[in-house]
This record gives sequence, C-alpha cells and structure tokens, in this order.
Amino acid sequence: MDHFPVFVAVAGRRIVLSGGGEAALAKLRIILKTTAHVSVFAADPHADLHRLAAERRITLVRRPLDHGDALCAALFYAANEDDAEDARVAAIARADGARVNIVDNLGDSDFITPAIVDRDPVTVAIGTEGAAPVLARAIKADLEERLPKDLGVLARIGKSFRHAVDILPMGRKRRSFWSDFYFNDGPAAIERGGPEAILPALGDLLDRHVTAGQTSGRVDLVGAGPGDPDLLTLKARKALDTADVVIHDRLVTKDILELARREALVIDAGKEGFGSAMAQDDIDALIVEHARAGAHVVRLKAGDPTVFGRLDEELAACEAAGIPARIIPGITAASAAAAGIGQSLTRRGRNSAVRFVTGHDTKGYADHDWKTLAAPGQVAAIYMGKRAARFIQGRLLMHGADPATPVTIIENASRTDQRIIATTLGNLEPTMSGSDITGPAVTFLGLAPREALAIDIPEQEAI
Ligand code: SAH
Repeated sequence: MDHFPVFVAVAGRRIVLSGGGEAALAKLRIILKTTAHVSVFAADPHADLHRLAAERRITLVRRPLDHGDALCAALFYAANEDDAEDARVAAIARADGARVNIVDNLGDSDFITPAIVDRDPVTVAIGTEGAAPVLARAIKADLEERLPKDLGVLARIGKSFRHAVDILPMGRKRRSFWSDFYFNDGPAAIERGGPEAILPALGDLLDRHVTAGQTSGRVDLVGAGPGDPDLLTLKARKALDTADVVIHDRLVTKDILELARREALVIDAGKEGFGSAMAQDDIDALIVEHARAGAHVVRLKAGDPTVFGRLDEELAACEAAGIPARIIPGITAASAAAAGIGQSLTRRGRNSAVRFVTGHDTKGYADHDWKTLAAPGQVAAIYMGKRAARFIQGRLLMHGADPATPVTIIENASRTDQRIIATTLGNLEPTMSGSDITGPAVTFLGLAPREALAIDIPEQEAI
C-alpha cells in the first residue's frame, strides 16, 4: 500500500483550489460535499463557478493563485489543466503548508482523492492507487446499488442515541442492539413512518434489549484446516466473523487469524503437536471462563478438531459448565498432504482402509498394531511423527515390513512453503533428520508422490 487511507478533518477549515475549467468543476462536485470553506482561484472562471460564488458555496478569487493564498488550507487542489501552472501553484501551496493534489498527476501529489459512496456520515472510499479507475467506478456502482439510501439517516440518528445505549453492557449485548437497529428495526421504522419513526423505534428496541435476559456464551470448536485460508469451511469463516474470543493453536496460520472479527480477543494457546505451551486444563478453563462471561468463543484448532485435537477434554469441560458447544469440522492434514502429492488415500485393490496414527501419545512414542501396518499395501498417515521416525521405522521393519515400501514426508501441507520429500521405509531415517524440517509434517507410509508432481520437487529436496 503506497497510499494510506485516512479521513481528513475539514469542518470549518479551508480547502483551496486553483483552476477555472472542467477539471476544477469535477473536483468541486465532491469537495462541496464537505463542510469545509472552499476557495477557488481562477483568472477566467467558468460560468458555473460564478453561480456557486453567488450561492455563497465557494469564495471565488478572479486571479491566479499567489503566495499566502493557501495559508491554513487543509487541502489544496491544482486543477489548471496546464502542467506548468499546476507545478507553480503546487509549489506555492506547499510553501503555505498545505497538502497538495495535482489533478491527473499521481506522482507529484501528496494525496489522492478516492471514489466515494456517500451515505453521510457513512462514507465508503475506494482507491486503486491510480491503477484502475474503471475498477473503482465499478465497485462504486455496485456499492451504490447495495447500500440502502437511508443508511445515512439511520447512522445519524443512531449516533445521537449512542449514550442511551450505554445502559447495555459492552460487547455482545450492545452489538446485537445495533445490529437489530441497522438491519431490522431501523429500516422497518423508516418504511412505516419515515425518518420521524426512527427515534421512537429506537426507544422500543432499547427497552426490549434491556429487559431481555443475559445472553449466555457459547463455544465453537472449529477446524482451521491445514493452513491455506482458502481451505477454511464457510461455517468456520462465519464463526470467525462473529467471534468475541478466539483461542488458537500455534499451528493456526497468521493468514487465518486475520479473518477473525477485528474486535475479537485473540489468545494463543501455544499448543504445537506433542508438548504444549499451555496446559490442557488451563485451555479448558480459559474457554469456559470466556463463555461464562457471555462471549462467543471460537476454539480454533489446526486441521480437523476431531483428529488428534484433544477435543473430548474441551467438550467435556463445556458440558460440565453447561455451555453449549458445537463442532465445526475442518480439513485434516492428511487430506491436504494427499492432495499435495496427487494421490488417493484409498484405492481399489490396494488398500480399502487408511489409518491416521500418531507418533506420540501422552506416554511418549505411541504403540500401534505394527504387524498390520507392516503388511504390504497398507496406507497410514503419521501425525506428529518427526521425532518418532526412527522408532516407527524400527518397529515396522522388525514386524517384517519391506524396506522398499514408499514413504513420503509432506511438510507445511497446503501452504506456500509446502515441501514433499519422497523416500522409502528403509531410508526414513536418516532422511527425516537430514531434511531440516521445521514446519508441521505428515508422513505417509505406503504412498509415493505421483510421478508428475515429484518432478516439481527441487533436486536437493527429492531424496
Ligand atoms: N487436528 C490436526 C492435527 C493436530 S496434531 C489435523 O487434523 O490436521 C498436529 C500434527 O498435525 C502435526 O504434528 C503434523 O503432523 C500435522 N499437521 C498439522 N498441520 C499440518 C500441515 N499443514 N502440514 C503437515 N502436517 C500438518
């Protein structure tokens, strides 16, 4: 972003414009929406400028701009349609301390004027940094159509009512009041009786919200997927949109956390696979504490919450506290990793079952039915299998597995830094320790990357 969008305070301040032709008039159309004092300097002003001056909407000075003319101006526009004159007046205005915009000259301007959708006091500004005015116009047209014409009236009356609403507790309660006002009761009142009906409707609505019982909190146990934000479910996105509190694992990516409602409190529970920064009991207590206070808590877990996610403990904690909890599934790492290597997790005639196994459990390296896993054609996705690689390799070989069994390690599945390392069971170690894996990784037993994909793997990574 080369231009930072802000709204400049111009009430009672000066906006000065140099130029008397079409370009000046075009700029004035939007400048005159403000409550600024507008001065126009033009040696030969267009007839419309005379009219605006007669209506006292602008101060018209019939001569070229000179030193001191732009003193105390909040903004200055050079709109002479003449490069030399624009450069001259821009230098003067800068010396007078004003921020300068030169019409159709992005490079020499201090600011740019966006396309505007005006529902004062609601203003939408659309900028493309000069790159695509057509796009800005299309977005503006789209918003003009979508935003109700009465939005400004609702916002203005709503603003005057703000203090009365302080009676409701901050957060969820107040938000639900305003959401009812803008999207239900407000528009309905205007339709019934015009703007005069809004204030009485606000009073009724407030009474209703004050007398309504304390809203109770709730918990969504949400799968954040493997890391690519596009792999979130719509349900997960909706939960993030309305969350008051988001409690997430360390594996949940920044891109996904950015989708949380801006006002949401975001807490890093710091759990990363095996070994946790925050004890599970503390996480359970945190979820319950916020939900008890009336919050909509989103417990955001990597992948799918039902896969190696200690979901039962969190569900049980909610149940014990009488807090409603809902599970929103996500794409588990094994699914993303299988997509990454272009292979199916099951295949007719090869394997009719697939196992999700963990390298670790609470007691250390996890034990499994090694004899079954060692049989030919088996497919397993090993989670949390980095440190356990040598142990797993040893157990499988001991139970008669073929050392040539394909094994594929997928690090950072679905993310831009995804890595695919193809090896065999016989070489799982030292491959794992020698591959400098720092991100989360799934290890597939019994699957090799599809040929065409393996070609894309840089030489040194395809061991
Ligand atoms: N509930 C998660 C798993 C949590 S256990 C899920 O369904 O995916 C944590 C383990 O998941 C990691 O050690 C790693 O084995 C795996 N994992 C999570 N995200 C991953 C990713 N993007 N790429 C590869 N493995 C991942």
